[in-house]
Amino acid sequence: MPELPEVETIKKDLEKYILGRSIKKIEVNKPRIIKQPSPERFKQELKGKTFRRIVRRGKYLIFHLSSRKFLIIHLRLTGQLIYGEKDSKNRLNLLLSNNKYLNLNSRRMLTEARLVDDWKKISGITRLGYEPLSQAFSLDVFRQGINKKKKNIKAVLMDQTFIAGVGNIYSQEALFWAKIDPRRQACSLNKQEIKRLHTVLKKILRDAVKCRGSSTSTYTDARGKKGSFHSRLKVYGRKGQACLCCGRPLKKVVIEGRTTCFCPKCQK
Ligand SMILES: [Zn+2]
Repeated sequence: MPELPEVETIKKDLEKYILGRSIKKIEVNKPRIIKQPSPERFKQELKGKTFRRIVRRGKYLIFHLSSRKFLIIHLRLTGQLIYGEKDSKNRLNLLLSNNKYLNLNSRRMLTEARLVDDWKKISGITRLGYEPLSQAFSLDVFRQGINKKKKNIKAVLMDQTFIAGVGNIYSQEALFWAKIDPRRQACSLNKQEIKRLHTVLKKILRDAVKCRGSSTSTYTDARGKKGSFHSRLKVYGRKGQACLCCGRPLKKVVIEGRTTCFCPKCQK
């Protein structure tokens, strides 16, 4: 699933291509992905609007449109937002004023699009926690949050109501770099471990943004190109392969339904 670095890359790309463009025509090929309002009203209300600004919050993209409307897109597992020529296989195609298209693609039908008057009232967004690359996500708030949690640390890192935008890939990588076993209870982490984890989490996310994300499965940027951070992943998807630090085979556990790889020797 695209996480913070991937969604941020798409956002930055689209800022270059679609801001100031208006929407001439809307083709909805799969009405199921339109969650709000009805697909008919969605088309009527979106037509003629201009893209003013793009904001990312967690894994959500919020497109500020003219007439105080907001298009909200969550790519979920396999969604792609691609600017360029029309692709009729896509779920949703928007024809822009420069005769290029913004195509929303999704192999699975979990991707969601909404058109709303107030994006801050969408339930998934109101519940989001800290943006991990913001100043507000300080060591203090991380420590306080972690001390309160009675779940394992991997689940805490992926909890969108605490930290927005971190998912299965970057939580595993951060725990490897911080040398912490993903199964540990969050409240069992000592001060040093919390500080280490806070530092590496921010660093990994920043590095992944610079590398335009990780293309571990279907993720591409807004021009259909892959990111390059997956070649730097240390544990994600490497079950049974040698730990890049000690050489022993990496193990796999399932935490809250998600496969998690780690090194039993390096991560304590
Ligand atoms: Zn190791």
